[in-house]
Amino acid sequence: MQEIRLHNTLTNRVEPLIPVHPGEIRIYTCGPTVYASAHIGNFRTFMFQDILRRFLGAQGYRVLQVMNVTDVDDRIIQSAAAAGIGIREYTEKYIQAFLEDISTLNIEMPEELVRATDHIEDMVALIETLQQKGLTYNSEGSIYFRISKFPEYGKLSKIDVQGMQAGARVDVDQYDKENARDFALWKAPKPGEHFWETRIGPGRPGWHIECSAMAMKYLGDTLDIHTGGVDLAFPHHENEIAQSEAATGKPFSRKWLHAEHLIIEGQKMSKSLGNFYTLRDLFAKGHKPSTIRFLLLSVPYRRQLNFTEEGLVQARNSNERLRNFTARLKDQQFPPGENEELHRRIEKAERDFDVCLADDINTATALAVVFDFVRDMNTAMDSGGFLQQNAPRAVATMEKFDSVLALLKDDDDEKLAKLGFTSHTARMPAAQVDALIEERNAAKKRRDFKTADAIRQKFADSGILIEDMKDGTVRWKYK
Ligand code: AMP
Ligand code: ZN
Repeated sequence: MQEIRLHNTLTNRVEPLIPVHPGEIRIYTCGPTVYASAHIGNFRTFMFQDILRRFLGAQGYRVLQVMNVTDVDDRIIQSAAAAGIGIREYTEKYIQAFLEDISTLNIEMPEELVRATDHIEDMVALIETLQQKGLTYNSEGSIYFRISKFPEYGKLSKIDVQGMQAGARVDVDQYDKENARDFALWKAPKPGEHFWETRIGPGRPGWHIECSAMAMKYLGDTLDIHTGGVDLAFPHHENEIAQSEAATGKPFSRKWLHAEHLIIEGQKMSKSLGNFYTLRDLFAKGHKPSTIRFLLLSVPYRRQLNFTEEGLVQARNSNERLRNFTARLKDQQFPPGENEELHRRIEKAERDFDVCLADDINTATALAVVFDFVRDMNTAMDSGGFLQQNAPRAVATMEKFDSVLALLKDDDDEKLAKLGFTSHTARMPAAQVDALIEERNAAKKRRDFKTADAIRQKFADSGILIEDMKDGTVRWKYK
């Protein structure tokens, strides 16, 4: 097993991963807030978490990942009230869309996907513990955490709490760094908004307590890894640490991993700025699920990912190179025997791939290893040096890479069709169009009109317009 080193926001260092429970890694992931469809910025962070869990699994760890669904927060409560429906009803369609999206992107399901609204009792119990320890106070029906009682407040986000005003409090779930304040654990009900009747009074939980309660319920008092996007470090994760550690007296998470943002035209992609694309937006523009997966995983998580259309085109071409190479490995007949030198080259690629990912999940260097491998194998095939018995080993290597990357399975069209996009949105490659035209010409020549018609229909289904010219040639274009 490779020593895995990860950057820890808490210490600002890259440190070895040493599991709390040998052989097992317990991860808590802040999941989506389900008041709208997730955008590809969100998926940048979820993709990083997928690569992380897949790599840990490939390294032989048992992974226990819990992801929450934030189905109660300020925005959800307000939007549901405005729509005149309950919050479960309001969030249901976004939860389903999220599940559909992660499956489309080959993001593995966490072992537990848990909803905040199913854990109100756990949150109430945690707030009671904090109350018993004298760390809270009540004001106008809400319960606040007194951050001056937790001297380590600020240790994750490194905010300066010196000038902090004791007793100043904040009710909103999201606020900026300048405002280190006592935050709401439990919020008094507002007229017309959803609330729960509980032992600590009527109301609803604050956002931060949701994650503390669910993380500790499923993963124990101390987790191995807690992840999210960088925007969550303050106040969300800082507050999670305060509540959890004040309640248990133990470290809440050994490591905090934060993914940098996906940006577009210099700005963070976000729902509030309106500068976002959902997966469906990109499918409608003709992009494939695997292209988006490739793009999102290609930039290491601690570097910002600058989203552009050209980036998507490159991602598509790169992924096609991987798929074509794998097809060549499986389809081509090679001379008998085994090339020992190539065998060693193959083994080295496998080792190097792991070394790159073990270095704080560096997907860029890991992909460079894969493409160097593909180039060297192609060269050997062209020169006749690649032999029959090298093929199964090279296939196994590509499969090993793919257990982490999950890019090779050619099921984009199927996935798109399931979502109601005809496969033409994924654009039949020009080479395939040309080959089909030739096939159609040949069919016509032998008066096999059934086949010729079937091909014409395939073009129609794929959004390709063909025109038979007088001189016998065929012109075509994408619709
Ligand atoms: P939300 O649904 O807003 O709670 O966000 C879900 C996840 O996406 C969180 O981990 C956020 O930090 C992350 N996130 C939001 N916007 C971006 C972005 N532009 N780039 C990367 N991650 C993001
Ligand atoms: Zn969270």
